[in-house]
Amino acid sequence: MYLCVMELTNTIQRSKSAELFEEAKHYFPGGVNSPVRAFKSVSGPPLFIKEGNGARFIDEDDNTYLDFCCSWGPLILGHNNQQIREMVIETVGKGTSFGTPTRLGNQLGKLILENNRYIDKMRFVSSGTEAVMSAIRLARGVTGKSKVVKFEGCYHGHVDSLLVKAGSGLATFGVSTSAGIPASFVEETLVVPLNDREALSATLKKHQADIACVIIEPVPANNGLLLQDKSFLQFLRDECTAHGILLIFDEVISGFRVGFEGAAGYYDIQPDIITYGKIIGGGMPVGAYGASHKIMKHIAPDGDVYQAGTLSANPVAMSAGYATVLQLLQPGFYENLAEKTQVFTSSISDHAKAKGYPMHLQSIGSIFWFAFGTERVMTADQIKPVASEKFRLLHHELLQRGIYLGPSTYEVGFVSAAHTPADLAEASQTICSCIDLIFS
Ligand SMILES: *Cc1c(COP(=O)(O)O)cnc(C)c1O
Repeated sequence: MYLCVMELTNTIQRSKSAELFEEAKHYFPGGVNSPVRAFKSVSGPPLFIKEGNGARFIDEDDNTYLDFCCSWGPLILGHNNQQIREMVIETVGKGTSFGTPTRLGNQLGKLILENNRYIDKMRFVSSGTEAVMSAIRLARGVTGKSKVVKFEGCYHGHVDSLLVKAGSGLATFGVSTSAGIPASFVEETLVVPLNDREALSATLKKHQADIACVIIEPVPANNGLLLQDKSFLQFLRDECTAHGILLIFDEVISGFRVGFEGAAGYYDIQPDIITYGKIIGGGMPVGAYGASHKIMKHIAPDGDVYQAGTLSANPVAMSAGYATVLQLLQPGFYENLAEKTQVFTSSISDHAKAKGYPMHLQSIGSIFWFAFGTERVMTADQIKPVASEKFRLLHHELLQRGIYLGPSTYEVGFVSAAHTPADLAEASQTICSCIDLIFS
């Protein structure tokens, strides 16, 4: 039965993408420069994209798609935003990199810090991973302790000591999720489940003398969207304070996404260190970490925690970030984005509910996620293998109809300012009819 549907809807050609992908396999492991891009969890070759404008992009076969991946989050203003483009072109006309401080770096730093109550000072780096790696070193440098606590179902980039998942049973010591990570690094990481106060308290109490910091995605958005209750995040804050442990909010996705001040502002919880990435660079490689004056004074050259970067605060990247952040500060920006996303996600959830399908959308601000099941999903182990199977079918059907989602059931979707209510209404109709197909 399902095969018929697949044949009927296999109309969009991806032959040029397929050809380029075959070629890319000669150059790059798996044909890609970042693993999820390879489309392993869904069907067909990955799209090779040549151009984007607003909410849409175009592949090498000249198919146009409404894009809900938005470069995995950075493009909150959509593709090829005019102000970003103009500012980048102006900057790049004067050179690409100087390896010196620039006025542009000051401008972006000032704009961010003046509008963020949760950090006093910041340092720009070139990726989210680098921001997290530096934040962890800072926490260790400040506390003189070495262990890090992370949560199962949170992703923090490919930092050695954070590519660790929970071990079997109740053991809080984890196992690495990648080859090439020394056991001695893994030993420095403790893993606890999300939304589990007892496990958290017990771990902090037992190891408090050795724990430098707890790191969490306050809006966990890399393993589905595992939204936590504010009360759990507040509990985490209080526990860290009580045990003399620093709290790091990894806001590489949630920063500038759920509000200008990210999740810290959304929940009004003050972490000790915050990491940023994705949106902060407007599509260019930028990350950052920030904290109070007191904590940041430990960073070199003021302090003894070393951290550096040849291309840190690169002027071209700073101008893309600046042009982005300026637009985010327009009154009503986030309210508008959240409102249209809400209309979109509830129309789909309502449809699934009316039909009795075991699925719903979970969302916050302009982030959404297809949860397969009817219960709210808050922890990694609640995601069942059937989700991958259903998502694969949905992804395929949507691709055939010009809608692009991140290629895995664990990826969240993003709505950008460039998605119009009409785009979203049309997408909702298409998505609902594809949901009918995959549950028929
Ligand atoms: C994307 C992401 C990272 C890694 O950022 P990169 O720029 O890919 O290195 C780290 N933490 C979170 C929460 C992320 O979403």
